[in-house]
Amino acid sequence: MPQPPYRSAAPLIAFPAVPPPRAQQALALQYQLQQSEWLPLEALRAQQMRQLALLAQHAFAHSPWWRRTLDQAGIGPATPWSMEVLRSLPTLTRTDLQDHGDAIACTSIPKEHGRVGVTRTSGSSGTPVAVRKTELSLLFWRAITLRDHLWHRRDLSTKSALIRYLPDDAEAASPTGRTASSWGPPTHDVFRTGPACLMSIQTPAAQQAAWLVAERPRYLLIYPSGLSDLLDLWEAEGTRPEGLVQVRTVSEAVPETLRQRCQDVLGATLVDCYSSQEVGYIALQCPDHPHYHLQSESCVTEILRDDGTPCGPGEIGKVVVTPLHNLAMPLFRYEIGDMAEVGAPCPCGRGLPVVTRIVGRIRGMLRHPDGSRSWPVFGGQHFRTVAPVRQWRVVQTAIDHVDVEIVPERPLTDTERQALAAHARKHAGWTHGLAIVERTEPIPRTKGGKYPDFVSAIREG
Ligand SMILES: [Zn+2]
Repeated sequence: MPQPPYRSAAPLIAFPAVPPPRAQQALALQYQLQQSEWLPLEALRAQQMRQLALLAQHAFAHSPWWRRTLDQAGIGPATPWSMEVLRSLPTLTRTDLQDHGDAIACTSIPKEHGRVGVTRTSGSSGTPVAVRKTELSLLFWRAITLRDHLWHRRDLSTKSALIRYLPDDAEAASPTGRTASSWGPPTHDVFRTGPACLMSIQTPAAQQAAWLVAERPRYLLIYPSGLSDLLDLWEAEGTRPEGLVQVRTVSEAVPETLRQRCQDVLGATLVDCYSSQEVGYIALQCPDHPHYHLQSESCVTEILRDDGTPCGPGEIGKVVVTPLHNLAMPLFRYEIGDMAEVGAPCPCGRGLPVVTRIVGRIRGMLRHPDGSRSWPVFGGQHFRTVAPVRQWRVVQTAIDHVDVEIVPERPLTDTERQALAAHARKHAGWTHGLAIVERTEPIPRTKGGKYPDFVSAIREG
């Protein structure tokens, strides 16, 4: 691993570097994270409970919502915390957060926690929410970003490319993209980095593909759906950007076949991370395996069965997150809207619990007329083997009907439409109404730049 070149803020001091104050804090945390990741699970839990007790004490004193909720659960400011105590609280839904944000927020925050800002989530799951965050809580985000770089042994002196949702950035939408002299904060606060180049995800995939071939970055950060589009293009053209070693994905669940395709087409490793705007980092990919480690220093993350008990290895359940450090708006047991599969302890030796995959969003579940729900797996990644489909998504418009929206390369024949419908039905186990709807306009991304392949347009309830 190349030695990260630390930035020095002190004049005439190069070695060892004396980093700027912001970097000092992030590095001090990172130093502790390098030790805590090896703690056994029980020791990690004990530390989490210490922190949770402090958060609860603060919430009890300063948040009307939490004073009432904790009180109703029989939890007082002096209650010793355990996972059982945490589980005695009801979960907090996005709707709670939407309707009662003011009561959930704390009226007073220690001044050492800095200013309070508001993060509005993209609302990709249909329910936009606003979360107040302290400056200090962002410090944990910065430290875990550094952990991600160090875990995945990135050579920070090289060029990094980003393809993201950059709505107001005209330069990033141009065919030459935008260039930056560094990787930006928080990485550049601590390390002297190489340059970066950025392009808007809203540009045509062919433009992105050509730009990456010309830029030759060592790293690329992109949404999984955007990567999939580029892999299609490069595969068809027989070209690819040279020198790309790692593709970092964010924001969406990674389809099962994407890691291997990334390796096959680009010769690059896919490294995913799981975070949300409301709670920050939830899990990072293990440095040695394609699964994830929960970031237990930052959040208590539960993965729960339908009856509320914790899932065991191999089971898929609802993700419920309690971020530990945001005193502006404590979120005990927040239902983030995703599902995940629990894994066995990792052979790498880190005590941080393992999640094998993030499987999607609850709101995006396919509902059946008999009241059951299932994963909306319509086999869309294979549509191209059936018909010339450029883009697709499935919209459930009624309890007994779905539209498979496609953007075809040319109008489809009746035989192709029937074959697509049969393919989609078979994969999803769907026996009710299904229409193939051909669109001429591209399928839009959501405001947050996400690109859901399944949308439920029927009301929950
Ligand atoms: Zn591991």
